[in-house]
Amino acid sequence: MSTDRDFYDILGVSRGASQEDIKKAYRELVKKYHPDLHKDDPTAADHMSEVNEAYDTLSDPGKRQQYDTYGKSGPMGFGGTGQAWGGPTGGFGEPFAGFDIGDLFGSFMGGVGRQQPEETPRGRDLSVNLTLTLGEAVFGTKREVQIRRYDTCPSCHGTGAAAGTSPVTCTTCGGTGEVRQVQNTIFGRVVTAGVCPKCRGEGRVIDSPCTSCKGSGIVKGDRTIEVTIPAGVDTGMRVRIAGQGDAGKRGGQAGDLYLFVSVQADARFERQGSLLYHTVQITPAKAALGTTVTVPLLEGGTETLTIPAGSQHGAEIRLRGKGAQAAGERRRGDYLVRVEITVPKTLTAEQRKLYKLLIETEK
Ligand SMILES: [Zn+2]
Ligand SMILES: [Zn+2]
Repeated sequence: MSTDRDFYDILGVSRGASQEDIKKAYRELVKKYHPDLHKDDPTAADHMSEVNEAYDTLSDPGKRQQYDTYGKSGPMGFGGTGQAWGGPTGGFGEPFAGFDIGDLFGSFMGGVGRQQPEETPRGRDLSVNLTLTLGEAVFGTKREVQIRRYDTCPSCHGTGAAAGTSPVTCTTCGGTGEVRQVQNTIFGRVVTAGVCPKCRGEGRVIDSPCTSCKGSGIVKGDRTIEVTIPAGVDTGMRVRIAGQGDAGKRGGQAGDLYLFVSVQADARFERQGSLLYHTVQITPAKAALGTTVTVPLLEGGTETLTIPAGSQHGAEIRLRGKGAQAAGERRRGDYLVRVEITVPKTLTAEQRKLYKLLIETEK
């Protein structure tokens, strides 16, 4: 059952509800409506499916953001297969947008966007759009990509401290990064732990910051890096290059680089997963008597095929292992050559005579 009700109303939470609130509300509703627990209530299943739909969207930060922005129907609905990200060409080095493409297209290479707290020293993930030829996508390739990213500061080697100095243990929190406060309330003594305001949770402070990076330990610059694209990628997939995003502040872990793949159309071939198609056109006479055709191969070169006498329109000739390759597969699929019989639109006087003769024999 699909519903027009607001997902937040369905779960009974506010628009600002935390993921924890949403999970809690969902658990309650499952108890309330789960059809297994309410066998005598015919509407329970409908309620449950409505709740599931709402939860599926709101529990996923990416889908939730999209729902908040566009509502349920747009710009591509949920679970759609449209290309959510920008065109095949254009900007690079933009921060990895808030939602996880993997959820929309099926995860590839196992990369999953990570939720990170504000102050984590881990570097940001970056993304680059990459346009490949069909051959590059099927066989894999190496590419140089330009990105603008933060790298470890060469002056301080990432420590953030000026030359000759090093970060020292924070005196406010004693290096734990956490400060505890004890309050006496009507409920008794309550201990609250918070992030240390002096070192912002890092446990160490820099007295004299490095002048090149102002203490962050990272500097921005343009980089050209070589990336390897595995065989079998297709439009809409992303490839994660671990550790090639922004460097982390003060020695923190580097983010990842995501390559968003888009494959150029190839006039000679049509690809469907691991299958490759090519169409040849022959005349009715050649179909009747049989002929040979020369077809292009994706790896280059050509192959000559025999089309047997009496071939019908739409017949397919299969070349095993000469097709494309799907992501995660080890060998290539098949190459299917489709036979199209095209009737000549104009005839020479001689051909007209022969077709007439032909008709005579068919009577
Ligand atoms: Zn520095
Ligand atoms: Zn501290």
